[in-house]
Amino acid sequence: MAFAEQDTLKSEIDEMVPDIVALRRDLHQHPELAFEEVRTAEIVAGRLRALGLEVQTGIAQTGVVGLLRGTAGEGGRTLAIRADMDALPIHELNEVDYRSTVDGKMHACGHDGHVSIALAVATLLSRHRDQLKGAVKFVFQPAEEVIGGAAPMVQAGVMQGVDGVIGLHLFSGHPVGRVGVRSGPIFAAADRLELHIKGKGGHAAMPEGAIDPVVTAAQIILALQTLISRETSPFERAVLTIASVHAGSAFNIIPEEVVLQGTLRTFDEGYRQRIIARLREMAQSIAAAHRATCEVEVADGCLACVNDPAMTEVVLRAAEAAAGPERVDSDERVMTTGSDDMAYFLHAVPGCYFIVGARNEAKGAVYPHHHPRFNIDEEALPVAVEVLTRAALDYLHP
Ligand SMILES: [Zn+2]
Ligand SMILES: [Zn+2]
Repeated sequence: MAFAEQDTLKSEIDEMVPDIVALRRDLHQHPELAFEEVRTAEIVAGRLRALGLEVQTGIAQTGVVGLLRGTAGEGGRTLAIRADMDALPIHELNEVDYRSTVDGKMHACGHDGHVSIALAVATLLSRHRDQLKGAVKFVFQPAEEVIGGAAPMVQAGVMQGVDGVIGLHLFSGHPVGRVGVRSGPIFAAADRLELHIKGKGGHAAMPEGAIDPVVTAAQIILALQTLISRETSPFERAVLTIASVHAGSAFNIIPEEVVLQGTLRTFDEGYRQRIIARLREMAQSIAAAHRATCEVEVADGCLACVNDPAMTEVVLRAAEAAAGPERVDSDERVMTTGSDDMAYFLHAVPGCYFIVGARNEAKGAVYPHHHPRFNIDEEALPVAVEVLTRAALDYLHP
């Protein structure tokens, strides 16, 4: 869909780039952890108010919502644009002049960019509100990194009256200038696993008098791998990692208990339920075969991010207009086994979560998310702003 007025978008965004970059760097220098995004929320609320939006603060502790009402006729739909605001408990190792000023805290996932992008979109769309029939609700959520901010915002009613939601993640695994948009699942469901294997402690030289939970745990760790390799179709996608093994206090003592921790990543809810049931069955029956017991806890995980086909079409058109059709990827490589609590907004209303490439070897922006040397190529910022803005103009076209 083409709008004569939109043809000025690229040049408008070009003029805004210094401010978009400056704000991103300011946020980068002042990272705030989950539910502590006080300064960030103040900046967000201040900017949204200055644009004349209706602003609500303190939602799910530090969340901010700004409503922009279009003036192109009565009625119309409401589109939510979501950005996450929190940083991570990581000590930054980058030597840039906008390095984190807080020891042990860092924007190592790109959420500083997300905030700056969404505020730039708010600025642009408020200038073009005469082209919007309906409203845009800007949703700035806290605490994505602990999967804690989105669900309480939804519970607080943020998605009431919203017809569609869009959002993006800058991605250091994808080349700058490219956009990844895909219908269906894009980020995985994440479940935290904890297994308590209980035996009977004793002398390491007299195992017959004990029930050794270490040998049992070893068998359980290996057997669980067959859930993916032997019970999962190669066309299904899943990861099961046991990442933490804790037991024992000395070389000559058989411990009472082994505690295993790990993560399960899946994309399909039915499959997820089946594999969790099989995981319990397998761990408990192997433990029983060795006279031990196994308690399996599956902590409340994050849902998968699943994109709605119609909303994906809107974003796809916007991405093609912004980046050029040859720079939009829709194949499986844009999927990630990472998780994101955008899933809760996507669960509430139809939406599309997409990725904007931020990787650039020449600039050293190559480290994975959550790495102490993570960085983005800031050339990604205007691309992201343009995709979101075009999607909103398209979705709310009079
Ligand atoms: Zn992250
Ligand atoms: Zn993130």
